[in-house]
Amino acid sequence: MYQFSRAIYRELAPRIVPPPPGAPSASNHAAVLRACEAVVTRLATDRHYFARPERTLFSDIRNYFPMSAQSHVHQVVCRYIQYAQEYLTLHPHEAYAAVSGAPPQCRATTRKGSACQRVPLPHNGYCPSHQHLAETEDRELAAA
Ligand SMILES: [Zn+2]
Repeated sequence: MYQFSRAIYRELAPRIVPPPPGAPSASNHAAVLRACEAVVTRLATDRHYFARPERTLFSDIRNYFPMSAQSHVHQVVCRYIQYAQEYLTLHPHEAYAAVSGAPPQCRATTRKGSACQRVPLPHNGYCPSHQHLAETEDRELAAA
């Protein structure tokens, strides 16, 4: 998964503005890379609750770039976040394991209040016994 955050960083690094006087010279670069990694991590572990990742990332990093680079930054962010989402659709479990080091778990909470430990189905993040929750969620989304 981090191939996507690294790709965003690599394309944008030459346009990052220098940090304010007194700050370490690499601090803006580190901040951009961290922001890219944070969004990719969240996408891989929590994509069902992450509505507009490209918007989040763009607003997290745009201040590190000059006015003249904003539309380029936006394009790069949108392109690679879309690649990441396509990859996630095909390989959700691998992506989750790559960023968290653990296998994915169902999103449901059991009656005892602990997290369901079963392996979720890729398309909605719920295990076979909790599929009804995904249907409820779809109805709520449609109603909203
Ligand atoms: Zn479950």
